[in-house]
Amino acid sequence: MNRCQWCGKDSGGHGMVVLTIKEDEPSQLICEDCYNRYTADMLGVEDYKDFEKEATFKDCDGIDHCFQIGKKIHPTGICWDAIEFIEEDKVGYSFEIH
Ligand SMILES: [Zn+2]
Repeated sequence: MNRCQWCGKDSGGHGMVVLTIKEDEPSQLICEDCYNRYTADMLGVEDYKDFEKEATFKDCDGIDHCFQIGKKIHPTGICWDAIEFIEEDKVGYSFEIH
């Protein structure tokens, strides 16, 4: 089950975050949007949602690769990822930079 415990969104497992707020409380499984909202509010980050969510690039053979772009606001910095979903559960290229 990959349903966000805060908003109920089913993200299919991609971008889910296990968040522990206090040491003695149970961890919560939340979606990337809820996690970014929580950390952006905590850190005072504004305007963090304005970016392209999808990008397509050609490889050296002229084949298109469509990537889903994600961004997570962490206390230690921002993490970007680009993942190519070939089929429902199959990933092609993936890139991540912190
Ligand atoms: Zn959520």
